[in-house]
Amino acid sequence: MARYVFITGGVVSSLGKGLASAALGALLQARGFSVRLRKLDPYLNVDPGTMSPFEHGEVFVTDDGAETDLDLGHYERFTGVSARKTDSVSSGRIYSNVLEKERKGAYLGKTIQVIPHVTNEIKDFIAVGDEEVDFMLCEIGGTVGDIEGLPFFEAIRQFAQERPRGQCIFMHLTLLPYLAASGELKTKPTQHSVKELRSIGLQPDVLVCRSEHPIPDKERAKIALFCNVRPDSVIPAYDLKSIYEAPLAYHRVGLDQAVLDAFGISPAPKPDMSRWEDVMDRLTHAEGTVKVAIVGKYVQLEDAYKSIAEALTHGGMANRVKVKAEWIDAEIFEREDPGPHLEQFNAILVPGGFGERGTEGKIRAAQYAREKGIPYLGICLGMQMAVIEAARNLAGVTNAGSEEFDHEAGKKRFTPVVYHLKEWVQGNHRVERKLDDDKGGTMRLGAYTAILKEGSKVAEVYGTTQIEERHRHRYEVDIKYRDKLEACGLVFSGMSPDGRLPEIVEVKDHPWFIGVQFHPELKSKPFAPHPLFAGLVKAAKEQSRLV
Ligand code: GLN
Repeated sequence: MARYVFITGGVVSSLGKGLASAALGALLQARGFSVRLRKLDPYLNVDPGTMSPFEHGEVFVTDDGAETDLDLGHYERFTGVSARKTDSVSSGRIYSNVLEKERKGAYLGKTIQVIPHVTNEIKDFIAVGDEEVDFMLCEIGGTVGDIEGLPFFEAIRQFAQERPRGQCIFMHLTLLPYLAASGELKTKPTQHSVKELRSIGLQPDVLVCRSEHPIPDKERAKIALFCNVRPDSVIPAYDLKSIYEAPLAYHRVGLDQAVLDAFGISPAPKPDMSRWEDVMDRLTHAEGTVKVAIVGKYVQLEDAYKSIAEALTHGGMANRVKVKAEWIDAEIFEREDPGPHLEQFNAILVPGGFGERGTEGKIRAAQYAREKGIPYLGICLGMQMAVIEAARNLAGVTNAGSEEFDHEAGKKRFTPVVYHLKEWVQGNHRVERKLDDDKGGTMRLGAYTAILKEGSKVAEVYGTTQIEERHRHRYEVDIKYRDKLEACGLVFSGMSPDGRLPEIVEVKDHPWFIGVQFHPELKSKPFAPHPLFAGLVKAAKEQSRLV
């Protein structure tokens, strides 16, 4: 049976609960324990799949095809444990399950209520895979006191009561604001936040206090006293230069020790921090900088491409260089020549995206990279744009485009080099979809195998000819253009195992130009940089020496 750490937050949002949870996962691993991290989100969307990246940041896709919160990306990057569908749930999903059961008569005519029906559904979710790991870390989204969060708080209270004593602990993150006028850190909001928690039956065992200033012992003791927490379980959390410092930083201030103490695990196994020491060594001892342009649509909110930004950092770590990524709005290239904007960069990355806006600009960016020999990585839509560019400018399909844009505009304007996929094979069964199915969950989602061409650039980059990568898209490059495009130098170097779906294209006689239909960024880790990102940064580094 697993031990459970429930992680909640108070005072303000965006305190770094996800990061603290992920870092704690890494620290427990460093002490030899197995972990799984889970996110419980109070919002009413059934999943984040249809939420705007502008509002909610990136949608993180798991191997088993769930569209989840970006915090699961942090969890994977820090622990290397692949998240599953059952590691992310929202109020919307819980209510939808409960209502579905109600319609099927599963509750035998009972009146359906938040307690016990909704809370039972949440508890069932929390306990999935209970036997598999030593520790289950469950983060509750939002802050204590939010109306939507109440069923989750109530469910974890019940859960802890129902388990044997000592199997569950509560960790609460708060903020200590600094009042410049009086030069003081204020503890009152933390006291109120804990009071709020206690009023719903939850007593935190560990308090993590975010602060921009050192927390004096006197204040720590005060927090401990007023919040009914042991002084050494009041853990300071200071701002960090890099998120990857978090495991070492939290270890230094005793987070893992406080958690193990709360469970009464003594003596605590000694930690092996070498993985994180190596990560920090690579990060802090970089020689030189390469500049990468990310030409995309959702450029206002960095979280919209969170995993790409992180994967580029990992690519830098693999090559011991610093990667400076700059976000450029693709629409600029619809008005202006890309040259003056892009010539200062050592590599160009066109990320995934949905909808027509900005796509002509992305096509021009791909053209610029191809013609000028600049390393290029096209991800999902970025691969589709590279194919359309080659079809138009090399293969003579002058009005090449994607069915996605025609579907949006309601008219036929393009020759669909990228078309809507209506059926495909997953494992050994066939999946069928229609364009007007519900927007949520109508995509090719999750891990699929690709077979790489012997002797191709990607086979060299990966060091193998069979890979598994995560997908999230509706449209596919049409295989019928393969011969025409290959004759012009755009090689289809990765295919689905049945040979029907192009997974990777690359430009022959180019230093490094690769487009992939999947999302490699989702699998990159600081301690295991993804080969495509390591490869792109290596090519950028070589290129930076040339200029
Ligand atoms: N909009 C494209 C599709 O659905 C690409 C999706 C993506 O980049 N994730 O195929």
